[in-house]
Amino acid sequence: MIRVTIWNEYHHEQHHPIASELYPEGIHGQIASFLKDEFEVRTALLSDDECGLTEEVLKNTDVLIWWGHVRHDAVPDRIVDRVHNAVISGMGLIALHSAHHSKIFKRLMGTPCNLGWREDGDLLRNWVCDPSHPIAKGIDRYFELEQEETYCEPFSIPEPMETVFIGWYEGGECFRTGVTFKRGHGKIFYFQPGHETYPTYYNKDVQLVIKNAVNWAAPIYRDDGIRKCHHINKTY
Ligand code: ZN
Repeated sequence: MIRVTIWNEYHHEQHHPIASELYPEGIHGQIASFLKDEFEVRTALLSDDECGLTEEVLKNTDVLIWWGHVRHDAVPDRIVDRVHNAVISGMGLIALHSAHHSKIFKRLMGTPCNLGWREDGDLLRNWVCDPSHPIAKGIDRYFELEQEETYCEPFSIPEPMETVFIGWYEGGECFRTGVTFKRGHGKIFYFQPGHETYPTYYNKDVQLVIKNAVNWAAPIYRDDGIRKCHHINKTY
């Protein structure tokens, strides 16, 4: 069974009345609720010792899901180093919504990851760009969220490995809402939906995309750092 760790800064749900009403168990709790039947799930919070991301936890994590927004700087650099090493060695990473500005995502991208935004509750239509991509499996030509925070291009990321979704917002903006990367042996998926004051993580299509992304990002190979080679024609 794929082992998933859901990391959340868990700030808005404790301080913002709409977010706490929408996500009484936290965004991590809601994501865990729809993943737990198919995957082995644990959660980790900023307030946990070592941000809940010890070497032991990362070693036993196949895919790490990251939700952060206003507390990015509170994550110590040594934790970011640890997560970075885990991704390079093969752990999958799914960066949700405002995680575009998390230390770990920016480190992996090597660019500022800036974008334009406004918060007007616009409809978001997520178009499938790559219907044969495993992350889009089961999604029709597009899926809609009645309300989502508007993000817009330019999104200062490196050119993605694949663009799975492009979002159109009713105000006219466009944004690459679902993109993939590979760093070392680790697969990375950035997925835009998930503003804390909208019920995004209750949406069935969003849930399906995240499940698909977990299956896609799970490691096929995990590098243990050993570099021993053998002469293939000799027996030692
Ligand atoms: Zn947001």
